[in-house]
Amino acid sequence: MREYFTFKDLNLSDEILHALNKMGAVTPTTVQREAIPLLMKDECLIAKAPTGTGKTFAFSIPILEYLDMSSKDIQALILCPTRELALQIASEIKKLARYIEHFNVVAVIGGQSIKLQAERLAKHPQVVVATPGRLIDLHEKHLIDIRHIYTLVLDEADEMLRMGFIKNVQDIIKITPKDKQMALFSATMPREVLNITWSFMQGAKEIDVMPKAEDRPKIDEFYVEVAQKDKALTIIRLVKENGFNKAIVFCNTKTTTTEVYEVLKSAGLKCGCLQGDMGQGARNRMMDGFHHGKFNILIATDVVARGIDVDDVDAVFNYDIPKDNEFYLHRIGRTARAGKTGKAYSLVSYLDKPRMGEIIRYTGASPELLVLE
Ligand code: ADP
Ligand code: MG
Repeated sequence: MREYFTFKDLNLSDEILHALNKMGAVTPTTVQREAIPLLMKDECLIAKAPTGTGKTFAFSIPILEYLDMSSKDIQALILCPTRELALQIASEIKKLARYIEHFNVVAVIGGQSIKLQAERLAKHPQVVVATPGRLIDLHEKHLIDIRHIYTLVLDEADEMLRMGFIKNVQDIIKITPKDKQMALFSATMPREVLNITWSFMQGAKEIDVMPKAEDRPKIDEFYVEVAQKDKALTIIRLVKENGFNKAIVFCNTKTTTTEVYEVLKSAGLKCGCLQGDMGQGARNRMMDGFHHGKFNILIATDVVARGIDVDDVDAVFNYDIPKDNEFYLHRIGRTARAGKTGKAYSLVSYLDKPRMGEIIRYTGASPELLVLE
């Protein structure tokens, strides 16, 4: 008998197993091993799980296993906080469903033409991934019918509610059938999230996934004490000395991203810039360019800190120390995805020191002091 547990032990269909295999996934992560059987038994689920633990497969696989291909209704709705995340989830689902004939998933997100989304919805997707604001828009215009869904997933619920989507999320829950299956995934459980679970998810099963050694991203964390004005030069030096191929530099403001971009570019590094003011088309092109290695360094604000999964990011730099403690974890979680290793550098100026101290106390992080000669 095999001693280790694989996706085969979860009684999945050949189509899904085949797709997982093609994606290089053999062993389920903890959240997948615990959530998939519960969701396949039609239970409602509240799952607390940190980033990078494989939540997307955990909710997508049971949805795909229970599709009714003879129905024209939308059967599953996945809500998530940002457009990038919605596109990413839709693309993972597409890959998982590559052997399911006539399967169709649509992302409903702000910043894209409503007309185009309405046309896609008219083709009867079985699964919709949406940001809450745009979904409500389409619902009010009668361009989407979510009254017959079977499963509702709230992904990154803490972030979604923190971004001010509480009312939208509550409205969506009320439009969908009372007896639907509901699954909520969240890295933290703040009051807003608990309110949702108390109001709408009585009797749900709960799982709490601690980042266990094998799941926890293997990130080497460093902090570098450096004068504010030398931060960009320090990044250039670290990138060159370590030969990083894919790195993300996080800044707190749009203006800083542009400044840092200019300095890195003039040092001969290939970089791109991503921030919330850019149109959706430009944001997607930028993510694609980074994904496909058209440039090596992405300079970004926190719009990309959460949920985005680009393979093989070997380093994350905090040019600015994040204002929100948890963002430290989300930012550094962009590297070392899926069991790979990665490095995270925080550039700490004299004025940043107290803030960094708070982050260390709050997150329990223990970055090592890196002294550059
Ligand atoms: P989370 O939503 O918890 O932050 P994701 O679902 O985005 O994490 O998964 C992170 C990465 O790990 C993705 O690239 C995904 O394809 C990969 N992954 C997920 N589960 C597995 C697995 N069981 N085996 C290998 N890779 C996996
Ligand atoms: Mg996720």
